[in-house]
Amino acid sequence: MEKIPYKIYLEEQEMPTAWYNVRADMKNKPAPLLNPGTGKPMTAEELGGVFCDELVKQELDNDTRLIPIPEEIRAFYKMYRPSPLVRAYCLEEKLGTPAHIYYKFEGNNTSGSHKLNSSIAQAYYAKKQGLKGVTTETGAGQWGTALSMACSYFGLDCKVYMVKISYEQKPFRREVMRTYGATVTPSPSDTTQIGRKILEEFPGTTGSLGCAISEAVEAAVTREGYRYVLGSVLNQVLLHQSVIGLETKAALDKYGIKPDIIIGCAGGGSNLGGLIAPFMGEKLRGEADYRIIAVEPASCPSFTRGTYAYDFCDTGKVCPLAKMYTLGSGFIPAPNHAGGLRYHGMSSILSQLYDDGYMEATTAVQTDVFKAAEQFARVEGILPAPESAHAIKVAIDEAMKCKETGEEKTIVFGLTGTGYFDLVAYEKFHNGEMTDYIPTDEELQKSLASLPKVD
Ligand SMILES: *Cc1c(COP(=O)(O)O)cnc(C)c1O
Repeated sequence: MEKIPYKIYLEEQEMPTAWYNVRADMKNKPAPLLNPGTGKPMTAEELGGVFCDELVKQELDNDTRLIPIPEEIRAFYKMYRPSPLVRAYCLEEKLGTPAHIYYKFEGNNTSGSHKLNSSIAQAYYAKKQGLKGVTTETGAGQWGTALSMACSYFGLDCKVYMVKISYEQKPFRREVMRTYGATVTPSPSDTTQIGRKILEEFPGTTGSLGCAISEAVEAAVTREGYRYVLGSVLNQVLLHQSVIGLETKAALDKYGIKPDIIIGCAGGGSNLGGLIAPFMGEKLRGEADYRIIAVEPASCPSFTRGTYAYDFCDTGKVCPLAKMYTLGSGFIPAPNHAGGLRYHGMSSILSQLYDDGYMEATTAVQTDVFKAAEQFARVEGILPAPESAHAIKVAIDEAMKCKETGEEKTIVFGLTGTGYFDLVAYEKFHNGEMTDYIPTDEELQKSLASLPKVD
């Protein structure tokens, strides 16, 4: 058989023309978003006050299997997609493993992550609806950057609430957003009611994603012609990210490769949900089986130590309730360096699939994650984002298990982005100043005690 190339690309005509909606193949559908006031499922009309109409449709659609990707979005995708599927020959050799390791690299665009796949779709639908602009939050800054790029492409205004600690620690990320014309405000801020309230209650707080979400939603609903957009967690975002998995599957199919294990890091679940979508579809339809592993930071363990329940998506409790694996909306994780994995909850789709036993989850502590990141960078030539390195860590662990057993398993993992804006974290790691904080059971019980009561 012909040797598998180092990089498997797709031809333009092989690229996906429709997103795949895994909900269509789920017997147990993800639980609906609830109105926090009435406890009833959110209607399209209610959601339409916050989100664009077309995105509301996608959010609520549990049945349409394939949703065509509009031509304008496909044209944008063609600039930076397909993303390469790389055979990690160099890593395999270094590890001395018989396993075959592949990674899907999403860091090949200025935003440095997979988030552009959804931001361009969300900006497109906002523009099509004739809106003036969108608001959002950003943690580490990848989502804000991706959205700024998408908004400038379609000529939309973009207001980003950036978690204060990142705003201060990552000034360069902020400047990228401003280059694309976005307004960036550190959160909590005094520009919103909820921000002022949080500042009063917790003076000196360095902010959290949940808090920035509350501010961004308020900024959208109090402005004519604005809607709020979110970079992860929601069904619509997983739908857009299915482009990752569709490309991966098409590339593997070209060479008749069937993965045994698929691994991804999980913050809100969008890259993992996207990567696994078509594989999970086969699993749900009983056509194939795969081991699917979500990797989360030990400091923010939603799947592995959280509760499956309805919870608020934000600290200010202005968003609808979502049923998900959660640590409680009041949970503020220790300041670990994988900013994109610090969310208290998890996608409702992945939560349902995990609860139904279709996937596994595990945790990694950050010093181990950075060890894996460094090991990877030295042989594969890419400096990974700390988030992505969670997947690397577990991919290496699985490859080493194969070394013991002599099994030639095929492992595919998502390399979600690059780590050039995370060099302060790398510096802490190199200086031996990095800590591995793991929340205690008492801390988790405390934040879980404030879950809303829903029957
Ligand atoms: C945001 C981000 C993540 C985590 O988000 P998900 O929605 O869980 O995919 C992972 N990696 C990178 C590089 C990110 O920017």
